[in-house]
Amino acid sequence: MRSLYVKFVVITIGIMIFSGILAFFISNTYYQQKLKPYNDQKNTKIALDIAEFTANHPDMNLKEYLDNISSIGYQFFLVDNSGEESYFGAPFRENTLSNSTKEQVLNGDIFHGILNFPQETFVTGFFANELKNTVGVPLTHNEEKYALFLRPDIKLLFNEMHILFGWLLALTIILSIIMVILSTKYLVNPISKLTTATKSLSNGNFNVNLDITRHDEIGELSQSFLLMARKLEQMDDMRKEFISNVSHDIQSPLSNIKGYTNLLEMESLSPEEKSNYISIINGEIKRLSTLTKQLLLLASLDRDEDIMKRKSFNLGKQMKDLVRNYQWQMAEKDITLEFSLPDIEFTGDKSLLNTVWDNLLTNAIKYNKTNGCIEISIKEKDKSVLVTFEDTGIGLNDKEKERIFERFYRVDSARTRSVEGTGLGLSIVADIVKLHGGLIHVNSIENEGTTFVVELPVS
Ligand code: ADP
Repeated sequence: MRSLYVKFVVITIGIMIFSGILAFFISNTYYQQKLKPYNDQKNTKIALDIAEFTANHPDMNLKEYLDNISSIGYQFFLVDNSGEESYFGAPFRENTLSNSTKEQVLNGDIFHGILNFPQETFVTGFFANELKNTVGVPLTHNEEKYALFLRPDIKLLFNEMHILFGWLLALTIILSIIMVILSTKYLVNPISKLTTATKSLSNGNFNVNLDITRHDEIGELSQSFLLMARKLEQMDDMRKEFISNVSHDIQSPLSNIKGYTNLLEMESLSPEEKSNYISIINGEIKRLSTLTKQLLLLASLDRDEDIMKRKSFNLGKQMKDLVRNYQWQMAEKDITLEFSLPDIEFTGDKSLLNTVWDNLLTNAIKYNKTNGCIEISIKEKDKSVLVTFEDTGIGLNDKEKERIFERFYRVDSARTRSVEGTGLGLSIVADIVKLHGGLIHVNSIENEGTTFVVELPVS
């Protein structure tokens, strides 16, 4: 595969050559169409002036005169009636001219050789040093008739200009090629750096450094690339943390179960001790079961594979059924419940939303105080439904409030350590609310209580 660098250089130089050829065609056409008639006219006038001058000065030596003028930049061909031919000035590269042309000029016609010089694609007639590329005028001197053919001596007149333009062209081409080679390096280098960065990223090294000071598309691309690298690094960290959390949360109940089953094997145990150990083992099994259920749910929420089964249902009734299930737990803690749950029809995934309310209500009970209070309400507002869970529990400080939706995050305080939990509930809640296109807000004051408001759009 040819590198982008080589391709870019080749294409740019190709464009330069192509533009050069095209420019030559265009300017040649311009010379043929516009400049050639003008050039012919101008030289015809000069030739006629010379003819007039020689006619008015019969005493002067014609050949000497023409020789003199040729030295200031003209080439002449003179032929007389007897067929005697003479050349003045620089020789013509090609000096074929038909006899009939000579005859016609001797008989008084004007020959427009410059105007009628054949048009060729790659030849600019202006430079063709040929006898055919001249103007011819009749000339009379000392009653002798001549035909005078003239063209400017381009080499003599424009030699320095030729060299100058030659240098100009050569330097332009060489400098352009050098510039293209250098500027392409400047353009392509960051792409090579991006490729190296991509390789190092795919090898798991997220610490990539790129030049993002450029304010062009490549700078923008580098910036997006760095952003992507940071995001990938974060995701990788989250994945590692997740695995270590899951392993820990599975390992600790398992070792508890193992320890207590070993104890159960002791023959000296009293029936009370036995039943105590069995209930501890059951508790740990329940914890493991909740954890695996929550992990499975999170995995399916992560896959996002259209797990939503939307249908219309009565939200108020769903909440009342849920509250009924937890009445005994609230009674155990002497928690009073107040609710306002009108019949509101809502379209969403009934089972997933039940998980949301279940989590919010169990948290409101778990993190409440004895003799506390819980208020649940549903309200319709504009094009959404607001579901509020307010408790008078232990509350959260600002730092904790920011992190409660993270997976496995649990507030680590003396008051929460004894409460059962996995730290996955609220992250599941947030995922489900997001799937419904809704928002979840939390307001909390430490030691006073917490309010969760779920805002779901009515589709
Ligand atoms: P857990 O299984 O630990 O309850 P959650 O994800 O449901 O996990 O909640 C995360 C943490 O947020 C909890 O450990 C708890 O510290 C805090 N929390 C959740 N709900 C409340 C609440 N109503 N009042 C006070 N703290 C709460």
